Amino acid sequence: MKNLIDGKKLAKFYCDIIAKEVNVRVSQGKRRPGLAVILVGENQASKAYVGSKTKKATALGFESYQYSLGSDVSEKELLNLINQLNHDEKVDGILLQLPLPRGLDQTYLLNAISPFKDADGLHPLNQGKLFTGLYKHSFSPIPCTPFGIVKLIDLAYTTDSIIGDKEPVAIDLSGKKVVVVGRSTLVGKPLGILLLDKNATVTYAHSKSLNLSEITSQADILISAVGSANFIKKEHVKKEAVVIDVGINRNSSGGLIGDVKIDEIADKVKLITPVPGGVGPMTVAMLMWNTLQLSKNR
Ligand code: NDP
Repeated sequence: MKNLIDGKKLAKFYCDIIAKEVNVRVSQGKRRPGLAVILVGENQASKAYVGSKTKKATALGFESYQYSLGSDVSEKELLNLINQLNHDEKVDGILLQLPLPRGLDQTYLLNAISPFKDADGLHPLNQGKLFTGLYKHSFSPIPCTPFGIVKLIDLAYTTDSIIGDKEPVAIDLSGKKVVVVGRSTLVGKPLGILLLDKNATVTYAHSKSLNLSEITSQADILISAVGSANFIKKEHVKKEAVVIDVGINRNSSGGLIGDVKIDEIADKVKLITPVPGGVGPMTVAMLMWNTLQLSKNR
């Protein structure tokens, strides 16, 4: 397929910058950035994501700490661990892998992570900075998946060949209609805000939206963050649209597939992110980016 947006290559571009900066800082006698990842329960997909995040952190020269807890862990025990990491000098970023097993209050636990160690940008203070625009004045972590998607969209609208030497230029999306399918705190909601800030006309769609294809087929940029295989089909997309597939699903043979029926729409759209190799690697790269900035800020 020719019209793919190469998330792996773009992620490598950012990871190379991060690794270089870590090297320089270490040669100046500074501490390596420290990332602590907490995994709760036996969710196989979460295990795989945590594995790839800790592996990438180590590859970039970070100190990486992984905490794997059983699904029977109490909220109090989890709070104690978060508190301990909040006070650990070696830890700059804390990531609580979502989703959590039933019975654990995600919002409450995310709120316990220090906003100054909030690698995923999900603490209410950092979400507030995003929603008010304060994040533009000084660094505050932006949720990693939306952050990565914005860079992928910039890349999609960059006309010269940039990969390898230059960062994609931040594109103004004035006049562009964007539809975000999904309204989670992790992906959909913050992504819509970031795109509004780039002057796009943003529509959110969700499970209660009626006539979805009528809404999505208006989009110059269509983002699907639903988590349902083959959910977006030909009738959902406008000709020459840019499509960002956030979904991660399993096909019958256990392989990873996105939300978008890619074979059906590839000829119709301008560009599309593949799964795997699109949004996923950029999410990990932006997690590393956030952790490095948090470390520099301490
Ligand atoms: P959530 O389950 O929290 O949100 C899913 C959203 O999809 C909800 O807003 C829901 O609407 C909406 N939805 C469900 N069914 C429909 C429907 N029939 N029509 C329209 N909208 C619908 O998931 P997340 O946001 O956490 O993640 C979404 C997907 O992205 C998942 O597959 C996840 O694995 C993947 N993901 C990928 C990442 C990556 O790095 N590539 C990172 C994070 C997530 P409602 O609110 O009404 O229920």
